[in-house]
Amino acid sequence: MKDSHKSKRERLETVFRLNPTWGATRIARSANVSLSMTRRVLKGRLTDRREVLPLTQDRIQQIIDLVAVTPALTFEDISKETGYSAFRLRKIIAKLGITKARPPRPRNMELRERIVALKHENPLRTLASIGHEVGITRERVRQILNEQGLQYVYPAKKIVSQRSGRHTNCVICNVDIPSLEASHRKTGYCRNCSDLKRVEDYNNRRINLICKACEKPFSMLKSAYHWRVERKRKYMERVNRVVEETPVACSYTCAATLREFGVRVGKANTKLTPEIRQHIIELRKQEISISDIVKSVSTNFKTRLGNTTISKWIKDGRL
Ligand SMILES: [Zn+2]
Ligand SMILES: [Zn+2]
Repeated sequence: MKDSHKSKRERLETVFRLNPTWGATRIARSANVSLSMTRRVLKGRLTDRREVLPLTQDRIQQIIDLVAVTPALTFEDISKETGYSAFRLRKIIAKLGITKARPPRPRNMELRERIVALKHENPLRTLASIGHEVGITRERVRQILNEQGLQYVYPAKKIVSQRSGRHTNCVICNVDIPSLEASHRKTGYCRNCSDLKRVEDYNNRRINLICKACEKPFSMLKSAYHWRVERKRKYMERVNRVVEETPVACSYTCAATLREFGVRVGKANTKLTPEIRQHIIELRKQEISISDIVKSVSTNFKTRLGNTTISKWIKDGRL
């Protein structure tokens, strides 16, 4: 059903007749008609109310008291107390040079809780992305988080570095890492700690041993040590363990000593003394093999002999 001009006017007249002291705003709201139309229709008659309620000193004081004491009161509330319309109250207050505090806006606690929950859920989220999700600006998100004191829980500087996978403080000593030291911000170790760490890492990659030949301590890379042990194992497989396995030594010289290489078995160590000559001749008569003769000479005369040496002596006719 269309709300005609005539019916609006009729409603206005009815409300006005029942409440002759009401202001235009209140009548308009009650009759569900626009304020401008209400003023137009009731123009001559509403002005009379100024004479009905003259603005005395007492009434001015009453308005000032109401505005000052309870700033949360709405114009509607003050209107009920004083009998002035809201429209007139605004004019009076403006004329008196005082400002009416607005009643506090109802806080949207649900929105606040949602924003805080989103921030807790993922601290690395940007204000803009939260704002976009809940439908407010990033500045408003920042204000709400600040109200909750979360700027200290999630300090902006730290969050920004975390977002790019960088550290603001040393992970070991917690010292501030200067922003210019980009590589240290990346690794999370300050200048000091990264130096110490480098030494530690180097030491961790090495193994400390004592040489069996010279009995001096030495260190080598773990990878090199394991590589040598592996090569020894392969060698032992190849020779079917006929020789004893030697430990890793500090140098080639020591390794040779352990494996009894390079020990002189020729001229210097073995002179064909008459005693040795007699011993070998007796053994040869019993048809003992050359390798057994070598063993026998080694044990009896505490000297080192090789198979080739004896073969050479036989060839030379010395035996
Ligand atoms: Zn540090
Ligand atoms: Zn050694």
